[in-house]
Amino acid sequence: MPVDARTLTLQRPRNLKAALAMLAKEPTLTPIAGCTDVLVGLHFGTSDTRQFIDLWSLDELRGITSKPILRIGALTTYTEIIASPLVQKRVPMLVAAAREIGGAQIQNRGTLGGNIANASPAGDTLPVLAAAGALIVLRSASGERRVSFARFYTGYRTSVRQPDELITAIEIPAIDGRQWWRKVGTRRAQAISKIMMAGVRSPADHLRQGYGGQEAGRHSCKVRIAIGSVAPTVVLAEAAAAVLSQGGAIGDAQAALRKEIAPIDDLRSTGDYRQQVAANLLAAFWKDTE
Ligand SMILES: Cc1cc2nc3c(=O)[nH]c(=O)nc-3n(C[C@H](O)[C@H](O)[C@H](O)COP(=O)(O)OP(=O)(O)OC[C@H]3O[C@@H](n4cnc5c(N)ncnc54)[C@H](O)[C@@H]3O)c2cc1C
Repeated sequence: MPVDARTLTLQRPRNLKAALAMLAKEPTLTPIAGCTDVLVGLHFGTSDTRQFIDLWSLDELRGITSKPILRIGALTTYTEIIASPLVQKRVPMLVAAAREIGGAQIQNRGTLGGNIANASPAGDTLPVLAAAGALIVLRSASGERRVSFARFYTGYRTSVRQPDELITAIEIPAIDGRQWWRKVGTRRAQAISKIMMAGVRSPADHLRQGYGGQEAGRHSCKVRIAIGSVAPTVVLAEAAAAVLSQGGAIGDAQAALRKEIAPIDDLRSTGDYRQQVAANLLAAFWKDTE
């Protein structure tokens, strides 16, 4: 049953400093960015939060810059990501993921920070950020810290973010290699993902020459693979990536991947189906990035 709107309160800070002061005083406040996830929880009565703080007017959380590192403000919408020449150039897999999130309305309103903080294992940007080695910038009234994306989540829908902290930005280091993204869902765009994978494969020629004058293996390269909807949090498939990085066979990498993921049966899919699709996606990634 929808939550009675009359029981809700909303605070609207004018700037980031005021927002952080409010959160320091009342850490139980729930931040609202685009509200696309929050509203669903209120509509279906699954959310037990009643006191909110609206981030939408905090300009400090907007903007995409690249000096010295690509920095995407937490309030950046998918529409802004898709339109950004900087993101198109540096992280095309993020643009590809953003294009498949919801429809136009969700892309106009949903934010990158919201997708991360919502911490759903089916969040489409999460595998991209894991494969990219992103950093999450967190800020409270007492200071700022950076957490590597690989360490951000602590379990199903939990993270290291403290109640008085906001995600202010996402930093993405330069990515050397071909980027790849694929989402499998019942129908494109509006469907919640059954499974999605992001991958990065460094140029083989570059690595064949070896770093620091050392000759690398003939077929070796550097690979990063991340998968969503196959475990309580996004999975960085390090064992499968290691097999491929060292020139191993795709079948061996698929076997390693199967051990790294633990998909469950749910309304959208069975665990067995997700195991098979994950293996198929790995093969597709490897073939497409040859
Ligand atoms: C019809 C529909 C289709 C959708 N399709 C997809 C899809 O294809 N793929 C997908 O991944 N998602 C999808 N979503 C989910 C949602 O749109 C995304 O997760 C979106 O990125 C959430 O962003 P938001 O700004 O709306 O977050 P909100 O709803 O405002 O917030 C979500 C959560 O994050 C917290 N939060 C938000 N910003 C911050 C911040 N800066 N710091 C700390 N905490 C913060 C909030 O407190 C809340 O817990 C869909 C939703 C709907 C309703």
